[in-house]
Amino acid sequence: MRSSTSLCTIVLPALNEEAVAEKAASAILSAFELRNVEIVFVDDGSTDGTWDKVKKLSKENPRIRGVRFTRNFGKEGAIRAGLEAANGECAIVMDSDLQFPPKTAVEMFDLWAKGNALIIEGVKIHRQAENPFYKMFSAMFYGILSRLAGMDLQNSSDFKLLDRQAIELFKKMPERQSFFRAITCWSGMKTERCHFMVEPRAGGKTKWSGIKLVKYAINNITSYTTLPMQMVTFAGLFFLAFAVVLTAQTLFMKITGKAAGGFTTVIVLLLVIGSILMISLGLIGIYIAKIYDEIKFRPRFVVSEIAGEEARKDGSGPDREFLDILSGRKPRDY
Ligand code: UDP
Ligand code: MG
Repeated sequence: MRSSTSLCTIVLPALNEEAVAEKAASAILSAFELRNVEIVFVDDGSTDGTWDKVKKLSKENPRIRGVRFTRNFGKEGAIRAGLEAANGECAIVMDSDLQFPPKTAVEMFDLWAKGNALIIEGVKIHRQAENPFYKMFSAMFYGILSRLAGMDLQNSSDFKLLDRQAIELFKKMPERQSFFRAITCWSGMKTERCHFMVEPRAGGKTKWSGIKLVKYAINNITSYTTLPMQMVTFAGLFFLAFAVVLTAQTLFMKITGKAAGGFTTVIVLLLVIGSILMISLGLIGIYIAKIYDEIKFRPRFVVSEIAGEEARKDGSGPDREFLDILSGRKPRDY
């Protein structure tokens, strides 16, 4: 039963966040005051001292635990691992750089405890201190994605509270390449919103480069919708119509004996059609690569170490994918 004393798990994916890990943990614990909260850090293959910080924190405070990946598996994998490890009646996914204010997380928790929503979504009011390229890119990304997917993803973030039911649903989703942000819309579960201001980073540097963002955008659009592939068919139909008109015109010119100097047209057509063909092939390639990645059915992440309570339980705790992998057993069959 949900109440204000229910356990809430805070999932914190962290890649090279040694500068902010401690700050984040203490800010969250103090914001949650006497509420029942646990923190799960997921160290996504950090190469700095993040894991040492997490180990130290978990020794000092039994409410803090950590999962460490063998290498960088990406934020989606880290969120997944955090939710697998969560013991709470609900879980809140946050960034470990304190860009999502802990007080909003508390608001989310209180809203969940009092109401009956299964998901509480953090909605960005506006962004601070972000470079114009990023801003433009993110507006474009969400503009396209929202249109393709037929839902508004603008201003959405990975800052969400999931009820146990939503966590279980997410854990059951078999795909290797998930898109956490879209789960709310996709699941259709009862959702409430919490608005918040994005704070500047509490320390350290952003992990996103321009290239990484472009990859992320392409990956997520193609994970979420197959519309781009259908657009290839439409482009083909459009060019077919074009071809019919052009053929008719060319034949007419030929018959009336005015067919001269068509070289420019030939070159332009060749280039346009050539590029469209290549883009289309590339697009289909992206989907095939995705299918290939999915059918390999590899684990989403490999855990090298755990810190805190789970470690002491020595794998005798709840049956969880990361523990299976850690102990050399096969990942669960879906
Ligand atoms: N992160 C991660 N794995 C990655 C990239 C990022 O776990 O491959 C974490 C990172 O440590 C941070 C959160 O995801 O807690 C958001 O990353 P960041 O703050 O760099 O992104 P931004 O806020 O600039 O969009
Ligand atoms: Mg950030």
